[in-house]
Amino acid sequence: MYEAKAYSAANSALPLAPISIPRRDPTERDVQIEILFCGICHSDLHYARDEWHDVMPAVYPCVPGHEIVGRVRQVGSAVTKFKTGDLVGVGCLVDSDHTCDNCRSGEEQFCPNQVLTYGSPDKHKTAPVTYGGYSDSIVVDERFVLRIPANINLAAAAPLLCAGITTYSPMRHWNVSKGKKVGVVGLGGLGHMGVKFAHAFGAHTVVFTTSPNKTDDACRLGADEVVVSKNADEMKKHASSFDFILDCVAAPHDINAYINLLARDGNITMVGAPEKPLPVAVFGLIVGRRSFSGSPIGGIAETQEMLDFCSEHNIAADVEVIPIQKVNEAYERMARSDVKYRFSIDMASLKSQ
Ligand code: NAP
Ligand code: ZN
Repeated sequence: MYEAKAYSAANSALPLAPISIPRRDPTERDVQIEILFCGICHSDLHYARDEWHDVMPAVYPCVPGHEIVGRVRQVGSAVTKFKTGDLVGVGCLVDSDHTCDNCRSGEEQFCPNQVLTYGSPDKHKTAPVTYGGYSDSIVVDERFVLRIPANINLAAAAPLLCAGITTYSPMRHWNVSKGKKVGVVGLGGLGHMGVKFAHAFGAHTVVFTTSPNKTDDACRLGADEVVVSKNADEMKKHASSFDFILDCVAAPHDINAYINLLARDGNITMVGAPEKPLPVAVFGLIVGRRSFSGSPIGGIAETQEMLDFCSEHNIAADVEVIPIQKVNEAYERMARSDVKYRFSIDMASLKSQ
């Protein structure tokens, strides 16, 4: 066991602050990673502030962070995929049971015994729960470590590990492709990746935003059209026309306004996880045989596929790089939808802590 530097929330009301945490020495299948960058996901904020209390009560101290990029410092004796010096990533999962149907089909995101990167009971008993990537190092089973392609900027690669896979996976599942009309709701960390993927898959891509000042960016990121969702007339123009809509909004909002934009048999998938239930008017679903679903992150194999796709198509997140000392300010700005479009923490800043 060794001590790592980290930032944690001590409870739901306090800002994040420096802490020293135990990490296990690498066992035979483990990879020890020096963390270089960690993205800030809105899930980190929801969790640290215990906003998901009813479904996933937070455990403190909580060290958030599941968009991790770093360099391999050491590997266990049985590790075959990685060697010291490799550039690697870790997303929202660090383990699963490896035996259930989901794991066997490479869909670890559905494993009932999955271990999340932070906040899950720690199987290794190094600490009561797992601690995430707002830290200078992490130790992870090699089966949950990803290869980062050499041509992606590291700070911009980090958000691919959650925002990237969470938008890529449902778009692949619902066959977003050329000839389809696709909407992306909420131009934040997830949404801006969703726009890049929908565009790269060849779909006619429409962004819905509550922030008129993001219109130019939306077009630059790949949108063919931008709708300011507060404008009812603009919304009406798109009635019953979408094949697929990806909803990336972090707060309660009117989902029915988007269900009504779906064509017959269209689907709207929630990846945004607002703290409160969203009321659904079922007639909107019935009339067009429309469907409303959700999607969690993605499996490990698909995450690697997404990273390789990004490498091939020159895709990465648009990031604002910050030192860890600005993490609380970043949370406040993210809560106000004021981020273009993902904060990425430069972990070198933790050394001076
Ligand atoms: P984010 O960067 O804060 O982006 C959320 C965007 O939603 C904002 O930029 C804003 O876009 C829009 N928005 C915010 N408040 C709104 C409101 N009251 N009404 C309408 N739109 C609003 O957050 P993120 O990191 O992308 O995460 C988005 C959500 O996905 C969070 O709930 C997060 O927990 C969840 N998430 C889920 C998964 C999964 O596996 N399903 C994975 C990661 C994250 P505009 O300014 O364009 O309106
Ligand atoms: Zn996330």
